[in-house]
Amino acid sequence: MEALYEPQTLQEAILYFSIPENCLKYLVLGRPEWANGVTCPTCGSDRVGFLKNQLRWQCSNRHAKRQFSVKVGTIMEDSPIGLEKWLPATWMILNCKNGISSCEISRALGVTQKTAWFMLHRIRLAQQGKQGGKLGGENGVEIDETLIGGKSRNMHKARRARVITGTGGKDKTVVMGMLERGGDVRAMVVDTRTKKELQKNIREHVEAGAAIFTDELLSYDGLSADYKHAVINHAVEYVNENVHTNGMENFWSLLKRGLHGTYISVEPFHLFRYVDEQAFRFNNRKMTDAERFDIGVRQIVGKRLTYAELTGKSATDTETIN
Ligand SMILES: [Zn+2]
Repeated sequence: MEALYEPQTLQEAILYFSIPENCLKYLVLGRPEWANGVTCPTCGSDRVGFLKNQLRWQCSNRHAKRQFSVKVGTIMEDSPIGLEKWLPATWMILNCKNGISSCEISRALGVTQKTAWFMLHRIRLAQQGKQGGKLGGENGVEIDETLIGGKSRNMHKARRARVITGTGGKDKTVVMGMLERGGDVRAMVVDTRTKKELQKNIREHVEAGAAIFTDELLSYDGLSADYKHAVINHAVEYVNENVHTNGMENFWSLLKRGLHGTYISVEPFHLFRYVDEQAFRFNNRKMTDAERFDIGVRQIVGKRLTYAELTGKSATDTETIN
């Protein structure tokens, strides 16, 4: 099999993906279901012909949607934006430490800001949901929460009521995080900082018996039956070197740098998308840009997000958007 050339830098990616055949080659090789050749997404047949001039395939069987492009079945399926823009946009959001805003993508790639915003959300969606087993490890798991926000101006009504009356602090959104030291982080938006909610997430994501480190928040009381629970005691001068949540705090500062410096006005109901974006980069932090891009591109298949789903507006409300 022909070895695949992989661009190593943004500049190489822009050059390489400016040639449509290269985009095609890269994306076809990234799809395991096409490992033995491209097959028809509608009927599964492998009797498909390649239409060179259109860079599309056509199935030999007679049915609707006989022709399909490499975007079929991916987050890009309905988008008229070319791969020469989609792939560099993907490169940038997966590899820029503090994220990248729709304004920057708009200027860099020559698409409207709204189109860029929609593209970025689809790329973020593709990076969600890939989680291994529970966190644990020899070095234990740091658990912490932080408050983000808060502009409640455009929050959905029901959510606003919950957030404002919850223990999260007025119009702030609570994000909870769990970090296996030296390993992966899991971070999620939660409704409140109540014992019930936080402990449910801990039991769901952290192996029983693992060492866990938290602050003194009362919501963490009662975990020592199932975990080796060490609590940071800020009242004593003597500090146990091992008992801290510095790793989680490092993640929060990355998240906040992106939210305050790059994205600026994130509505609370979209916040989880930015939390997931930062977690994806963090969990793949030991890779090169090219490796992170490769993993990210392999995750674009089998996912879809419409503009109406994203904004909560019906299709007729929305302006023309790509
Ligand atoms: Zn077919």
